[in-house]
Amino acid sequence: MQDIHLYHSKTKQKERFNPIDPEHVKMYVCGPTVYARPHIGNARPRIVFDVLSRFLRHVYPKLTYVGNVTDVDDKINKASQEQNIDIKTLTSTMLKYFHEDMSALNCLPLDLEVKATDHIPEMIHMIQQLIDKGHAYVAKGHVLFSVPSFPEYGRLSHRTLTEQIEGARVEVEDYKHSAQDFVLWKPSQSPDPYWDSPWGQGRPGWHIECTAMIKKHVGLPFDIHGGGIDLLFPHHENEVAQGCAATGCHDYCNFWMHNGLIHVAKEKMSKSIGNVLYVADLLDDAPGEAIRYAVLSTHYRRPLDWSDETLSLAKQACRKLHLALNAFPVQDSKLMMDEALLDALADDLNTPKAFSLIQGWVKSILNGDSQYHHRLVSACHLLGFGDQDLRQWRPKNPKVTVDDIEAQIALRADAKAAKNYQKADEIRASLLEKGIVIEDTTTQTLWYWQ
Ligand SMILES: [Zn+2]
Repeated sequence: MQDIHLYHSKTKQKERFNPIDPEHVKMYVCGPTVYARPHIGNARPRIVFDVLSRFLRHVYPKLTYVGNVTDVDDKINKASQEQNIDIKTLTSTMLKYFHEDMSALNCLPLDLEVKATDHIPEMIHMIQQLIDKGHAYVAKGHVLFSVPSFPEYGRLSHRTLTEQIEGARVEVEDYKHSAQDFVLWKPSQSPDPYWDSPWGQGRPGWHIECTAMIKKHVGLPFDIHGGGIDLLFPHHENEVAQGCAATGCHDYCNFWMHNGLIHVAKEKMSKSIGNVLYVADLLDDAPGEAIRYAVLSTHYRRPLDWSDETLSLAKQACRKLHLALNAFPVQDSKLMMDEALLDALADDLNTPKAFSLIQGWVKSILNGDSQYHHRLVSACHLLGFGDQDLRQWRPKNPKVTVDDIEAQIALRADAKAAKNYQKADEIRASLLEKGIVIEDTTTQTLWYWQ
């Protein structure tokens, strides 16, 4: 069996991955808060853990991959009021967009996707357990987790008490026993959503949903918990505290994996700067597979600095990849995985290394060498490439019609047949100016929107 090493955020080093049950690996990844369309920062964990899930399914007989949807949150309440849309319509519409956009990026559906609002009784039950065990207290209609009651707090994110207080400053209120205590339940009234609870009408804090849903659908402890690095503190630190304090389990999960954030032209993506890159808009600039390629071309733990060049290089690489895939017929339906490729993925999901191997094969194949074709087909299948027809993708405002392009390509073929290479090159250059790239294969000329 493949020896897999993954970076564990808690120990800050790569460790050998030993599943709790090798017959059934379990992974949970924090999902979207459905109040707006997904941006590329929301897509990165979905793409990264999609690749990890495909790889784990290749190595182990069974994987259950679970994720949540946060459909109760202050950001949702605010967006619903601002846009004058009821909360259910807003969250179901945004979740539909999320699924459409992730599918366009070749992310497979999770085995189980669970919504916070479907688990309010489980959250109330867990909060009551925490109160009963002396880890939580009621104050002014709120229920708060008592951080000093859980001495392990801070071990995951390596935060000192001062850093913990600073991180929780936003929630410092006079009813807290300790400044770093965090909210499990808070009072709520219309128009904000509310549910009946032993502590009055209210709604859950954000952190409790993941812990309650993991306990129900995954079980504690489990193998891998993933998410963006921005969730490490306080969200994941709080998940550990809630889960271990409520159930008495010593370990919450064996591996914490966090992907780095995406910056745009070296700046943090934010609505106030106005540089948020929505997946739907990026899909007007590039096919989904190219966006996926761009995300995976940087190692998942590193920050990814997004630029027009990032996408343009990825588009080019994907075009070559597809040309190589189509260069020879697929001989054998049985997939043969390349050992070096598997080793790259087993080394903390090193996708840049996997891509450099793939690019080498692509080059050989485009030079007419068929011996790497089968392993390229297998690698693309494993990594989630090759399913889309890149030639079907259209930019939002094309500068030229398909009929014009095809007429020009026919003229170029005539020029080449008459050995008028200067004219053929001029046609190629003029098409490129209009955003059309031509690729000549041994048998035909293919064209793509740039
Ligand atoms: Zn979570």
